[in-house]
Amino acid sequence: MKEIAPLTFLLPRDEWQPDARYPRLGATVDRAERTEAILHHTVYAPNVWRSVDEVRAEMHKLQVARPDLGRDVPYNFVAFLMRDGVLVLAEGRGARLQGAHTRGHNRTGIAIAVHGNFERPTDVGRYAQQISRCWGYLRDVEDLANLGSVAPRGRDVFGHRDLAATACPGRYVMEAIDSIRIESYVGAEEAEMRRYAVRVPIGYFEYLSNGVTKHHIRSVTTVARRIDGGLLDDGARTPIILDGTSRDALMALPDAEPIT
Ligand SMILES: [Zn+2]
Repeated sequence: MKEIAPLTFLLPRDEWQPDARYPRLGATVDRAERTEAILHHTVYAPNVWRSVDEVRAEMHKLQVARPDLGRDVPYNFVAFLMRDGVLVLAEGRGARLQGAHTRGHNRTGIAIAVHGNFERPTDVGRYAQQISRCWGYLRDVEDLANLGSVAPRGRDVFGHRDLAATACPGRYVMEAIDSIRIESYVGAEEAEMRRYAVRVPIGYFEYLSNGVTKHHIRSVTTVARRIDGGLLDDGARTPIILDGTSRDALMALPDAEPIT
């Protein structure tokens, strides 16, 4: 997985290893043609997930869930809301290929489907910034420069129901959609990155995720951009040096000392 913003990870298609019996579908679309960001839900439940293994298994299900749309994930990407506030954006057809999600908008639109049934109560607002930065990543890093140039009044992002007679993406995604923007992370917080040295007792850190770019500290979630000088569970044996934002440091690393 690749960290694309705080609490936000990209799982490329080759890392969930699609079933090779079902080839990738969709014609290539010129990047400049992508103008609309469209949110969907998959209507599966539950809405909040625990592990990346679950994400991989669910992506395999989505390869064959809608044979009427072809045997491939019909969305460009699928967002998984994880229990700890992390969002995992799994690549379906990806940024370059046509999807099969919104009649009349499959070339011009990029679809992110949130995996779950969002007619059921869910705190989608907790993930609004993470979703916003997925859209920003697609616009700025995947070079979909015109993404968002066609949008509903006052918003950056469509819900499927803005474009068709459907309940999709569900009531609770729609309740949060005003706060979901196309928001760049690169540049916004990179400029604020500093290097911190952290000395911690053994066991202070709890190792999670890929163990390199993300970790939990007690009950607080934070993000380290890079870790030098040993694994986090080296504890007192090795001073841990990480690059993070001052917000991360103040929130979760009260003893961190900036190194300049
Ligand atoms: Zn939809």
